[in-house]
Amino acid sequence: MKGKRDGYISWDEYFMGVAKLSGMRSKDPHSQVGACIVSPDNKILSMGYNGFPMGCSDDEFPWAREGDELDTKYFYVTHSELNAILNYRGGSLEGAKLYVSLFPCNECAKAIIQAGIKTIVYECDKYADSPAVKASKRMLDAAGVRYYQYNHTGRKLEVEV
Ligand SMILES: [Zn+2]
Repeated sequence: MKGKRDGYISWDEYFMGVAKLSGMRSKDPHSQVGACIVSPDNKILSMGYNGFPMGCSDDEFPWAREGDELDTKYFYVTHSELNAILNYRGGSLEGAKLYVSLFPCNECAKAIIQAGIKTIVYECDKYADSPAVKASKRMLDAAGVRYYQYNHTGRKLEVEV
């Protein structure tokens, strides 16, 4: 036998897999989004998922989507992309690539642009018709951030833990 093994996962499968695995850490009962930031030479720099800021207890802050505004999650949750950006303490993210399981909202788009991230690979774009995603694309287009949808290979990756 000589030569490398077949069937190893591609870079895209690897990084989207890590993004989705990261999303599995979310305590949000309705939405689990994960993100993974990668350097131009394919090194993982950071990861994130949607959750409350440090010190804001998952058991005390609200996960509700409806009701009194102050008792919904929207004022408190940090999205996975922003968490991944903020979790990175190594310096610059200039030229980095972001893998994310859901298309970034307008607030995350601002952070992505300002962090110098140049490429977004997203899995799902189910809120494409929402003002937040339309505004996001408008800013990303203006800033020259490239985005494209992840191409599913259909492979199921299983990890026993
Ligand atoms: Zn967002």
